[in-house]
Amino acid sequence: MIKEIPRYNLGDILEFKKTHPCGGKAWKVIRTGVDFKVECTTCGRVVMIPRIDLRKKVKKVLERAEIPE
Ligand SMILES: [Zn+2]
Repeated sequence: MIKEIPRYNLGDILEFKKTHPCGGKAWKVIRTGVDFKVECTTCGRVVMIPRIDLRKKVKKVLERAEIPE
């Protein structure tokens, strides 16, 4: 069975398993690549996370960014 590998795109809003110290759970993807940059939508803090680690941190995608065809 093939398990779908989650893909995250620029502008996606992700919910992390761990709550940020500010109380926020929603993070916006502002850079993709080997390292992702995500911004806390509550306090605006930006963190860089390697793509491999990101998959383990994300609980679910709250909002998918519109992808132009
Ligand atoms: Zn925060």
